[in-house]
Amino acid sequence: SEKLLTVKNLKTYFYTEDGVVPAIDGVNFDVAPGETLGIVGESGCGKSVTSLSVMRLIPNPPGKIEDGEITFDGKDLLAMSEAEMRKIRGNEISMIFQEPMTSLNPVYTIGDQLTEAIKLHQGKNSKEATKHAIEMLKLVGIPLPDKRVNEYPHQLSGGMRQRVMIAMALSCNPKLLFADEPTTALDVTIQAQILELMKKLKTELGTSIIMITHDLGVIAEMADRVIVMYAGRVVEEGPVLDIFKDPLHPYTEGLLNSIPKIEGEKERLKPIEGVVPNPLDMPSGCRFHPRCPYVTDRCKEEIPTLQDKGKGRNVACFLRY
Ligand code: SF4
Ligand code: MG
Repeated sequence: SEKLLTVKNLKTYFYTEDGVVPAIDGVNFDVAPGETLGIVGESGCGKSVTSLSVMRLIPNPPGKIEDGEITFDGKDLLAMSEAEMRKIRGNEISMIFQEPMTSLNPVYTIGDQLTEAIKLHQGKNSKEATKHAIEMLKLVGIPLPDKRVNEYPHQLSGGMRQRVMIAMALSCNPKLLFADEPTTALDVTIQAQILELMKKLKTELGTSIIMITHDLGVIAEMADRVIVMYAGRVVEEGPVLDIFKDPLHPYTEGLLNSIPKIEGEKERLKPIEGVVPNPLDMPSGCRFHPRCPYVTDRCKEEIPTLQDKGKGRNVACFLRY
């Protein structure tokens, strides 16, 4: 089937004073129209760098996309000029972040910020743009939208601000939305409401979503498919339900063991032993080998590549060769 986004052998490195950080090291994935892909892994695994690479927002220096292909809607994003990229960002590809307060400008009203994006990308006049902004606020469930449109970010609660961010991200009807830990800063009740809203919008608007999170609960709730990242590489990929039922990679197994299986269950959780590797000194071979209970000599020498296990499942582990 036709893919909206295809990422092939993506490598994004950072050249720091202390050495080279291979933040993304040969990552492959794709997203179909209307699909929600989850990207999961511990902090520093390369999830956010992946989305910033696709948006071409890696600060250079110190960062650089070293290699790979990014094809979005038939276009080669890595061959585009900065001016062409600006037309795509916020228009065809949008992004929402964890902390809406840092992405909303405190000195402008909600309406100013929403209409700015709408005017920029859709060529609407102020009156049409304000009307569209109010419609967007209504769509994301903000009560009294024609009043709220004149308020400032600090006058809204955290949950309401995140709704405004979603309204901004969706105001240009993007084909693809990156959501990077969109609910992490919110309390559990608000978090559930925001996820519900995103699911509803996805159904109504048909937007493809890439949901980036360390939270497997969010993945279970939202994603159709998931890629599991570890130390800059994809270690497992597949449909969410299959991976939850039968993880093929020891790291995925570890992640699943570290969350309670039944809500409220008192069972002791088993965190994954060891720590994430120092990015300036990545382990040889399989980067998970210092933490893996099944490690063999081969794992320390050779890099396991993703193996196709059928039914959309892929795994990078010698146990599955
Ligand atoms: Fe563990 Fe080896 Fe598999 Fe890596 S390749 S996950 S070290 S068994
Ligand atoms: Mg991050």
